[in-house]
Amino acid sequence: MSPVDPASVATLLARETAAYADAHPLCRAGYDAATNLFGHVPMTWMNMWAGGFPLQLDRASGNRVTCLDGVELLDFALGDTGAMAGHAPPATVRAVARRMGELGGVTAMLPTPDAQWVGAELERRFGLPRWSFTLSATDANRWAVRLARLVTGRPKVLVFGHCYHGTVDETFAVPGPGGTTVTRPGNVAPPVPVSETTYAVPWNDLSAVEAALTHGDVAAILTEPALTNIGIVLPDEGFHKGLRELASRFGVLLMIDETHTFSAGWGGATRAWGLEPDILVIGKSIGGGIPCGAYGLRSSVADAVLARTQSGEADIVDVGGVGGTLAGNALSTAAMRATLGEVLTEEAFTRMVALGTRYAEGVQAVIDDLDLPWSVGQVGARAEYRFTRPAPHTGEDSAAAADEDLDACLHVALANRGVLMTPFHNMALMCPTTTADDVDRHLAVLREVAAALV
Ligand code: PMP
Repeated sequence: MSPVDPASVATLLARETAAYADAHPLCRAGYDAATNLFGHVPMTWMNMWAGGFPLQLDRASGNRVTCLDGVELLDFALGDTGAMAGHAPPATVRAVARRMGELGGVTAMLPTPDAQWVGAELERRFGLPRWSFTLSATDANRWAVRLARLVTGRPKVLVFGHCYHGTVDETFAVPGPGGTTVTRPGNVAPPVPVSETTYAVPWNDLSAVEAALTHGDVAAILTEPALTNIGIVLPDEGFHKGLRELASRFGVLLMIDETHTFSAGWGGATRAWGLEPDILVIGKSIGGGIPCGAYGLRSSVADAVLARTQSGEADIVDVGGVGGTLAGNALSTAAMRATLGEVLTEEAFTRMVALGTRYAEGVQAVIDDLDLPWSVGQVGARAEYRFTRPAPHTGEDSAAAADEDLDACLHVALANRGVLMTPFHNMALMCPTTTADDVDRHLAVLREVAAALV
């Protein structure tokens, strides 16, 4: 393997960072002027963008974004999946404009027929019959975890090391020494020690899952079909079957978070890989950019929740922990209906997944030709390269392969060549308007930049 040369990375990073600043004076000025924003950005994570400051968005359409300096970029970040439908898909724009304009009533606390349409469509795709809506995937996870605790009468969740399910306190946990669970580095002020709420075990380790479930205090296993927030870490053959079997054996609910892995196909990895969740969570993409999230329950879980509420043990219609005054509002349900019905269709997924394969195969060819110590993972329409070979098997393996400077260098060098990648990692996502030429453009740029580093 040809190792990447750290000195070349440092030199290129300095040169590309200077070129980035030169190319984006208005973006830089906008960032500097934003003194009333904490960290100069509307949300602090926007400081994850490499280059010293994030671009300021002027406009976006399909898979193109244009910054305030008038530079157009090919967008593979797609809002870290929020824009999987492409930016401003016309069908969603029409539905949203109609709901806000002609019809009004965005947040009247009243249902519209769109909500039932979306619930039925989510059942068709994912197989679960009872749906509730939120405004983010974080909130859907948070609420579903509470329901899992209610139904099982158990306090804890089991998650996998280096998972990400949004800012849900119980999930900021990693496996510690000797089978313990410890807080994830960087976690902000956990309310209680995370070992009181959570077991964190390594991904792909069914015996560690079994050992944790043996304690008898786990309400739910919460997992993505593949880890997607520490690079992509794919499941071993039989891993999901094993999780389902263990969950059933120990009376634990299996909660599948499809927020990112929806990329696997029109019914997410749940349909594509034949998973059998008790609870399914999704968010970000299904509203075409309008805030929304959803969780679906198996009938037996919905019935068990109702039994607990009818007995007076818990309340889900008043202040019993139901968050989100704007949840399920008429605007987000209209956006979901249009996006699922007309944009992220079965046919669109067929094309997006084929482009994901073209992308992953192309990256593999770059890795092979340059003999890079990297690997590439794919979940349908999304793919990601990671600085380790063979591909990581656990979140811990993948975390150990992180290389901040190399990451920054690639992100800035690619941005300077008109290609935008997700700031948190190297994820690339295909949307309905991505083309084979777009994929090939990224590959040519990646090849040029990587060749300069070995
Ligand atoms: N689940 C997964 C798998 C995610 O990747 C994310 C965000 N990256 C979330 C949940 C949370 O989504 P949001 O920030 O939109 O609430």
